[in-house]
Parts: sequence; structure tokens; C-alpha cells
Amino acid sequence: MFGLIGHSTSFDDARRKAMELGYDHIAEGDMDVWCSAPPQLVEHVEVVSAVGKSIEGAYIDSCFVPEMLSRFKTARRKVLNAMELAQKKGINITALGGFTSIIFENFNLLQHQHVRRTTLNWERFTTGNTHTAWVICRQLEINAPLIGIDLKKARVAVVGATGDIGSAVCRWLCERTDVAELLLVARQQQPLLDLQRSLGGGKILTLSEALPQADAVVWVASMPRTLEIDSSKLRNPCLMIDGGYPKNLDTKFSGSGVHVLKGGIVQFFNDIGWNMMQLAEMENPHREMFACFAEAMLLEFENCHTNFSWGRNNITLEKMDFIGEASKRHGFSTLNLKSKIQAAAA
Ligand code: NDP
Repeated sequence: MFGLIGHSTSFDDARRKAMELGYDHIAEGDMDVWCSAPPQLVEHVEVVSAVGKSIEGAYIDSCFVPEMLSRFKTARRKVLNAMELAQKKGINITALGGFTSIIFENFNLLQHQHVRRTTLNWERFTTGNTHTAWVICRQLEINAPLIGIDLKKARVAVVGATGDIGSAVCRWLCERTDVAELLLVARQQQPLLDLQRSLGGGKILTLSEALPQADAVVWVASMPRTLEIDSSKLRNPCLMIDGGYPKNLDTKFSGSGVHVLKGGIVQFFNDIGWNMMQLAEMENPHREMFACFAEAMLLEFENCHTNFSWGRNNITLEKMDFIGEASKRHGFSTLNLKSKIQAAAA
């Protein structure tokens, strides 16, 4: 069985959805009630892949909301409790979605393997970052040409270049896509210098230096809501792959030459009879999902019950190849720019 651990995008949203699901006692509670609310297994599902393999899965809502990020102990407890529930339910491989993988890594939850009487078995969990990185790279490769960008001549900025997903994207773009120039953006200098050395190239720039030069920008950092960007300084055309969480870049850009694509999202070839992606605000919730969630499904389809994506900066091109091939074989495709752009480009 595969599992997905997720959360709502805001406190208001979580309360509204809890009401819809019939959890009235939690829905009406204030933030303190939500901070102490246990995780809930809200849905079971069966999925059949494009090659006819059938698997079962479950969605666990961690009852975490982004407003809890500043409450360090609460955020930590929410993620660990959801992982404990997944393990107790006998789920073989569970993806940590949304902020839960970031909390796991940044709050160093590896030190907290014991949750009450349960010893968490890390092999049962994956961040899903290898599939996310592969999907984002393929979204860039598929969609850039559709709007007239030749990646072999293009400058591509990676915002969040030193992160787990960002560094994997950089490796792929250097070695597989062969982009003309890679612009590396993050806040801390030393990891940027280490990355540049390991890639054997790439130009380190600040965000405001990189944006006016970039033909395409891959965003793999959670950017502050207050971030202001002057669209008039961007290149035309410019492809923005919004791979961070939450996905809010479409509210920041205007102008006909700027194309914003939700990054790290895949579509399944068939409808899935679940409601969980409505909670995640997908446009086509019976087919679309985060690539990190799909990674848990792929590992279950492949009987690969191991923490495939784990820790920081461990994603290799070979692992991206493996998960990418599995993704295509079992019926996933990347989310792409709308068909009218494809028709115009044809
Ligand atoms: P990491 O924490 O490993 O990396 C974050 C990166 O962003 C680092 O390079 C960090 O470097 C940089 N960064 C953070 N804040 C800023 C800023 N204000 N300006 C510039 N750079 C910044 O995260 P992951 O690689 O695990 O995840 C990256 C993003 O992808 C997250 O937003 C995550 O939620 C999202 N994600 C999306 C998925 C999907 O859509 N399917 C699935 C999984 C994750 P520094 O601190 O030096 O600035």
C-alpha cells in the first residue's frame, strides 16, 4: 500500500474542508485546538496503472497548516504523528507532501525516530523529491520550445539551486539538457560555491541580477509572499516554472511574454476516484497531483519499498532516469502549458 501525507494550504481552508468532511468538532476549533488535533486518515483509494498493475493507497491529513510553521514543536509533532499513523496502518511507502518534507529536513527529525511506542522505520518514507526534480526538468524541456525558447541557446536561472530539488535540476540541466548557461540563485554563498564547483560551471547571481537575464526560471524555493517582481524587466518570451510550495507565482507576473507553469505537477492517464487532490486545489483533481505524491505510487507500482528520496543532495541522474521511466510506463505525464499555446506554436 502507498500513502500520502499532506496538509491544507491555510488555516481557513483547513477549517472549511474539515467541515465538508464531517469533522465538525475540529472545524469549529481555534488554532490551539488544531495544534493538538491528531492526524486523520481521510481516504482510501485503488489505482490501476497504464500497464494494468493495481495498487491501494491512503491519504493522511497531518492537520498541520502553514500558519504553524513558526511553532517549531507543533510542526515537528504534526509530521511525526502523521508518519507514526502511516506506519501503524501498515503502509509500505509514504510520501511527505507540501511542507512536511521541508519540516522533516530543516527541523532534523531524523533525531526523533521514536514516537511514543513506535520506532519509525525510515525505509517506509520518501520525500518524493527525485520524481519532482525529474518532472520539473521535463516540463522545462517540453515547454520552452513551445514558446520559442531554444534551451541550447538559453540562459536558465534556478532559484533555490543549492536545495535538494534545485541541485538535482542543475545537474540534469548541465549534463542532459545542455542549456547554454545556468544561473545559480540562493541566499547563502558557500553552498553556491560548492555547487558551482561540483557542476564545473554555472554563474552565481542574486535574484534581481538573474531575472532580467533569464529566458527560463525554475523556482524551487518557498519564496516569501511579499516578494515583488517587476515584470517589465523580464525577457520576452520568458518561461517561469513554479516548482516551489505554495505555488503563487502566477499572481506576481503579468505581461504577454511571461508564461507561468505550475512545476512538479503530473497528470495520470485515467481518472482516480479520490477527493484528496481537491484538498490540494488541483485544477483537474481526479488526474492531477504533486509529483512527490506520485513518487510513492510509482514505488508501490514497482514494488520498490525503500526511502528512494531521502536526505539532502542525494539525488543522482540514475535515480531520476529510473523514476522517470517508471512515471511514463505507469501512465503519468507532466503538466504542460495550455493547448492554445501548443496550437499557436505548431
Ligand atoms: P530545500 O530546503 O532543500 O532547498 C531550498 C532552496 O531554496 C535552497 O537552495 C535555499 O538556499 C533556497 N532559498 C530559500 N529561500 C530563498 C530565497 N528567499 N531566495 C533565494 N533562494 C532561497 O528544499 P527542497 O529542494 O526540498 O524543496 C524546494 C521547494 O520545492 C520547496 O518550496 C518545496 O515545498 C517545493 N516542493 C514542491 C513539490 C511539488 O510541487 N511537487 C514537491 C516537493 C517540494 P538558501 O537557504 O541559501 O537561500
